[in-house]
Amino acid sequence: MINGKIDLRSDTVTVPTNAMREAMSQAVVGDDVYGDDATVNELEQLAANMFGKEAGLFLPTGTMSNQLALFTHIQRGEDVILPDNCHIICHEGGASAIIAGAQLRSIPNVNGEMPLDLVEHYIRKDPEDIHQTKTALITYENADSDGQVRSLEYMKSIKEIADKYEIPVHLDGARIFNGATYLGVGVKEMAQYADTISVCMSKGLCAPVGSILVGSRKFIALARRKRKILGGGMRQVGILAAAGILALGEMPKRLQEDHDNAKYLVTRLKEVKGLEVFEERQKINMVFFRLKDYPLDSAALVRYMADHDVCINGEDNGLMRFVTHCYVSKEEIDQVVELLKDAR
Ligand SMILES: *Cc1c(COP(=O)(O)O)cnc(C)c1O
Repeated sequence: MINGKIDLRSDTVTVPTNAMREAMSQAVVGDDVYGDDATVNELEQLAANMFGKEAGLFLPTGTMSNQLALFTHIQRGEDVILPDNCHIICHEGGASAIIAGAQLRSIPNVNGEMPLDLVEHYIRKDPEDIHQTKTALITYENADSDGQVRSLEYMKSIKEIADKYEIPVHLDGARIFNGATYLGVGVKEMAQYADTISVCMSKGLCAPVGSILVGSRKFIALARRKRKILGGGMRQVGILAAAGILALGEMPKRLQEDHDNAKYLVTRLKEVKGLEVFEERQKINMVFFRLKDYPLDSAALVRYMADHDVCINGEDNGLMRFVTHCYVSKEEIDQVVELLKDAR
């Protein structure tokens, strides 16, 4: 429950835990633009260590983290290779064209992955040819916002192609901890196949705000400059970083519970007449289904649920998505399933 409601719209709805609120109230802070905020410095160091990189940078959002990565990695007009359904293309308001001036070279996402031969095919091969720009970055997500997870082998293959042409790899790791939990590996094992990684702390990890960008010392120094250009140099922001320290340090341990609850939700949804449940798509904390012969359409179902204090999103491209998180219990899943069964 969050504020008396069961909220299955997203893991972004999670509110800070009591431990976070406590840590925020006690946080030692300073002017972070001067580098004086001890709590921000601690968070950035913690993130760098966790991901096996030299440095970290605290940012307000995952979008800013991704866009700053592009802004720092590339020059205007250069190519960025990425999957066509990724967050950078679909959900960041065209920012890559506005901020970094990137030319996005999107590759079809086939079964959740950019085919490796296509990635290599799209890389610019002839820097001497005045018709051609340069491929300056390859980026993709793991886990992605469709709840799919790429294997370590796939990540390694992308890195090998990138290395062959000396192109950096940026991993949009908004949900990297969910990915690592699903794969049963540490985030460092995933991070070794990317030069830079952006990580969201305000999704399933419950921080109220915050993303962290990690990479080499040189890259982060340049990103820090460019964050200032974007107006992202913040002052006594340790008050938020304090929640981030708990988000990274404590919260990933409990993500398996969200994944188990999502699996349980799949099992229970299969009991409801008129739903087509996409069982094989449930890997992390996301469950997908379709209203097939269900008595209510998507809009009516959203209203019916809202009348019973359950928040859900309507269908997107014909698909319904329910997301489990820290504030959704097994008992609440049972309540939701009973409501679904009773609708008419
Ligand atoms: C949520 C998300 C982001 C952006 O995070 P915001 O904090 O909402 O700006 C980036 N990439 C992926 C894959 C996401 O799911």
